[in-house]
Amino acid sequence: MGPAMSDPTLRPKGSETREPVDFLREIVRRDTESGVYGGRVVTRFPPEPNGFLHIGHAKSICINFGIAAEFGGVCHMRFDDTNPETEDMKYVESIRRDVRWLGFDWKEKLFFASDYYEKLYELAIRLIGDGKAYVDSQSEEEIRKGRGTITEPGTDSPYRDRAVEENLDLFARMKGGEFPDGAHVLRAKIDMAARNMKMRDPLLYRIRHATHYRRGDAWCIYPMYDFAHPLSDAIEGITHSICTLEFENNRAVYDWLVDNLFPEPRPRQYEFARLNLDYTVMSKRKLLQLVEEGLVSGWDDPRMPTIAGMRRRGYAPEGIRLFAARIGVDKANSRVSMELLEDAIRDDLNARAPRAMAVLRPLKVTITNWPVDRVEGLEIPLWPRDIGKEGARTVPLTREIRIDRNDFSTDPPADWRRLRPGGEARLMGGYFIRCDEVARDPATGEVAELRCSYDPESLGAPAKGDRKKTTAIQWVSASHAVPAEIRLYDRLFTVADPESVEEGKTFRDFLNPASVETLRGCLVEPALASAAPGDRFQFVRNGYFIADEVDSRPGAPVFNRIVGLKDKYRPGAH
Ligand code: ATP
Ligand code: MG
Repeated sequence: MGPAMSDPTLRPKGSETREPVDFLREIVRRDTESGVYGGRVVTRFPPEPNGFLHIGHAKSICINFGIAAEFGGVCHMRFDDTNPETEDMKYVESIRRDVRWLGFDWKEKLFFASDYYEKLYELAIRLIGDGKAYVDSQSEEEIRKGRGTITEPGTDSPYRDRAVEENLDLFARMKGGEFPDGAHVLRAKIDMAARNMKMRDPLLYRIRHATHYRRGDAWCIYPMYDFAHPLSDAIEGITHSICTLEFENNRAVYDWLVDNLFPEPRPRQYEFARLNLDYTVMSKRKLLQLVEEGLVSGWDDPRMPTIAGMRRRGYAPEGIRLFAARIGVDKANSRVSMELLEDAIRDDLNARAPRAMAVLRPLKVTITNWPVDRVEGLEIPLWPRDIGKEGARTVPLTREIRIDRNDFSTDPPADWRRLRPGGEARLMGGYFIRCDEVARDPATGEVAELRCSYDPESLGAPAKGDRKKTTAIQWVSASHAVPAEIRLYDRLFTVADPESVEEGKTFRDFLNPASVETLRGCLVEPALASAAPGDRFQFVRNGYFIADEVDSRPGAPVFNRIVGLKDKYRPGAH
């Protein structure tokens, strides 16, 4: 799959005409050209504030805000808050923060479906007056049975032919609080034999004696999604209502309601494939379970596929937008591999994260021919040459240093390029050292110290001969290095699709017990002592890291690994 390049900020220069346009943009372009909406393009992003947003929502946000921006239109931010039992202001706040952080702006176009309750009620009364809606007094179970099956038509409710006056009276009394939950519902009068089961007199209102987070106890009847959503779109003058494929069958209800209550030109619904990402779950209900059961540390746990989790993990908004552009817009549901997401994150961070040295699993090295008190400041560039950015930092080199245990092997494979007994390797940005002696812990037999000698002539000199077959290793001065905690993350689940698992198991049975490894006693170069929470670095060969927004402190930094590097080298891999 080539990059879809749907985000103009990510499009390489000159590619505008060559890139194929997705089907949604094709539709919007057709409508702006034909002038059905007078050239207006108004989309919306309509989350329900019942949880934090996830990477699937990010796809929807990029599509809705992206299309509006590309066609000179606007995208409304609308909270689809019609369910008093699950919604909360803390979710509204997290969603606003996450959408802004992703880089999108709804300007003054912030709306709540709960502000439309009065208007929606009036529209329901109009439908009843037109003989197009009725109060059904069957039980939930009777309604379910009466709906029929895919192969059998439904049966009319005994209350279906109630007189308009009686319906109006009952509906008013439902609103007035006279009846308990479930006593009555309002239904559209469409067709109980319709092939599309959604059209078999869908429910429009239900009674719920519950306190709503915004409207308090003002209402005890609440509109259903199928009623509130299309009519909210129409009230706001939305032109293109873009949603995910599972709402395809609801489109008939959408059209029926809007056709009956609003003049042309009216909004139309279009569906695209939702994002499914391997090794994670993407439903707010399941993510909420993980949070509530304490299986993760919160909505912003760096392993969560939430936007808050990805922000804390260290993904940049540009990287997430690049991912959304690369997966593009499709009409068929499919799964996307984690590699695709991680590639986009890496590609974005490459030019964003300066290089730094960190020793994750320290091994003591003494440079025996280095004077005890000598401290030499080495100027090491912050960026590799191909990035084309300026800047360097000074790293102190002393007699006693630490290197990563994984950069030394007593029993190296044939293609080993780092330190071995008797072998040489360059200290990154510095001198070549040769390992002359390996000291072991007498109790455990574990390598405890390398005694090395350095070549004073090798600083800045090109490698020759056997030295060409080596690679530079990271190091820190023992007396200058800063202790750090480093957290390495792995997949949250052990199976690609934790949502469809064998009978009797749930997604929770497939949590990866090793999804986080916390390394204490890591050592980082002195400049990183002052890393501000949110600062990102590439720790050479180990991946990209961010100073944790919550736990990192000046002088006691805590780093999260954002993503590993693409090359074969992984700490502990050999
Ligand atoms: P969830 O199943 O995670 O609770 P939802 O659809 O119930 O998701 P909403 O808050 O209603 O959550 O979603 C807001 C918008 O985001 C909707 O237009 C929905 O279609 C879209 N959306 C939700 N999940 C995805 C996804 N995985 N991929 C793309 N778009 C999504
Ligand atoms: Mg929903």
